[in-house]
Amino acid sequence: MEGRRVVGLAARDKSGVLSPYSYNLRKTGPEDVVLKVLYCGADHTDLHQMRNEIHNTNYPLVPGHEIVGEVLELGSEAKKFKVGDKVGVGCIIGSCGECSFCKSNMEQYCHKKILTINDTDIDGSPTRGGFSSAMVVHQKFVVRIPEKLAPEQAAPLLCGGVTAYSPLKQFNRSDKVISAGILGLGGVGHMGAKIAKAMGHNVTVISSSDKKREEALKHLGADAFLVSSNTAEMAEAANTLDYILDTVPAYHPLGPYLSLLKPDGRLIIVGAVPQPLQVDAVDLILGKKSISGSFIGSMEETQEILEFWAEKGLTTMIEIVKMDYVNEAFERMERNDVRYRFVLDVAGSVLES
Ligand code: NAP
Ligand code: ZN
Repeated sequence: MEGRRVVGLAARDKSGVLSPYSYNLRKTGPEDVVLKVLYCGADHTDLHQMRNEIHNTNYPLVPGHEIVGEVLELGSEAKKFKVGDKVGVGCIIGSCGECSFCKSNMEQYCHKKILTINDTDIDGSPTRGGFSSAMVVHQKFVVRIPEKLAPEQAAPLLCGGVTAYSPLKQFNRSDKVISAGILGLGGVGHMGAKIAKAMGHNVTVISSSDKKREEALKHLGADAFLVSSNTAEMAEAANTLDYILDTVPAYHPLGPYLSLLKPDGRLIIVGAVPQPLQVDAVDLILGKKSISGSFIGSMEETQEILEFWAEKGLTTMIEIVKMDYVNEAFERMERNDVRYRFVLDVAGSVLES
């Protein structure tokens, strides 16, 4: 038996253009939460998937994995929430629950994780994201939105925010001032800059142009700003950073950024660059530098970043748009013309299929 009928937006082919699409949710299970989607962030990963840039997209694809909603209905055993609660869903909606990752609060690395979009749900149907009027999700993969946070503010934290928070947490120490680099000032990058700053780090934003200098220094509280193509500026900053959070979604040489790291420094890659990146071994060997990756965060960390954001009084810098603007929004994201995250006002949009 199928669940309720919903209307969303789907990409039908690699043009990535989104158009209305109607489908049935899966039947509500005992531990499921049915939520009415209020807001949904638009992340660059949605764009990669809509355009099949990661080469695994199954169409029609309903994007959206930064979802804030209101609980509409609960399964008989779903005791974590009440009807009417404000809740969030991020990148994953399932995992095996038994592997070493699942048992150590790292379920995002479970080999049987179920992604919120472009995956197969427990009933065999395609998973469909938050560019839709409603969703059904197991309560384990639903977090609570703190009362102090406006729902639209919370949306980008559910993927972009936790993607920055999870790897930066290890540098949240009080015994020394950490010198942080944030490479790429987009959705993930602007939240990364704010998180690093709130953790007391000395933050350098590294950007592809000079356009965001004033915003970074004045509005985001960054301590320094580097333009990656300015070789003199880059040379002056050599060997100064403890880590760099690399959020760039397109091919870029790694050497210039590795040179900014101190000995033992770490380049943390979170940008899902569609092509293989290249590294010169000498850049790593001389200076004992390392490169690592990081994938979103656990459910526990997702709840943590929401609390962290509320407690520190931080704000996401967003542009709220209606669903009929979505294709233009993604075009603007591709042109690097958004400050810094589009959030779709799903509940406030008219969706007809
Ligand atoms: P975004 O909003 O488009 O921001 C990316 C930023 O990178 C841009 O604002 C721009 O900053 C810079 N940039 C863009 N194109 C560039 C180019 N060709 N060369 C150099 N710099 C460029 O994207 P996002 O939503 O933050 O996502 C960033 C990446 O992280 C995407 O690949 C996304 O798929 C990935 N992601 C990964 C995870 C994970 O779990 N690992 C989670 C979420 C997102 P400047 O103007 O400052 O240069
Ligand atoms: Zn598992």
